[in-house]
Amino acid sequence: MTEAVKTTLENLKKNNMEAYFCSSKKEALELVKKLIKKGDTVSNGGSVTLAETGVMDLLKSGNYNYLDRARPGITQEEIEQVYRSTYSADAYFASANAVTQSGYIYNVDGNSNRVSAILYGPKSVILLVGTNKIVKTIDDAIERVKKIAAPNNTRRLNLDTYCSHTDSCVSLNKNDSEICDGCASTTRICCNYVLSGYQRHKNRIKVIIIDGSYGY
Ligand code: SF4
Repeated sequence: MTEAVKTTLENLKKNNMEAYFCSSKKEALELVKKLIKKGDTVSNGGSVTLAETGVMDLLKSGNYNYLDRARPGITQEEIEQVYRSTYSADAYFASANAVTQSGYIYNVDGNSNRVSAILYGPKSVILLVGTNKIVKTIDDAIERVKKIAAPNNTRRLNLDTYCSHTDSCVSLNKNDSEICDGCASTTRICCNYVLSGYQRHKNRIKVIIIDGSYGY
């Protein structure tokens, strides 16, 4: 484990979050199985990391009451219902856009069902985060979203934004850009900017840091 990871784990714990380190995705998957129990109602935010680590397959295994917003034939109305049901789930899974060494979690969302469920609702929030997403400062986290997470996610989702064509946010062309500056695309995925710090509800948020590069 690097010093950066060690520091991050310590500071996440100081911020009242459970923090774990796994040296492989296999280890992370075993840990996830211990954090939830059969029959639990579970849901997730959109995440490449969850697919890459096998967590999505686990959630869909039939051992849990999985709130599936992507099942074939689902209507927009049913998707909205899944989003609302998620607020009473036992566990909510997602990744993070960045985690600072000072123990803050940074997420930026467009639709914002993910950030809202992280903030309030599900009893437990379990975030799987590759070491590629650990950054030193909040400024680094902001930059990570504008240069890595957003361009890759807009391309993955086939969204016509400035960054999907150029690999970085339009706001970076300005000298004095602020955190929320960006494009005016109707499909912009940066609308709500959420920094999670010290938690009043101790250990509701669990962060599993996995050695290696996962997601964007
Ligand atoms: S504001 Fe627009 S251009 Fe900037 S990162 Fe977000 S989606 Fe991309």
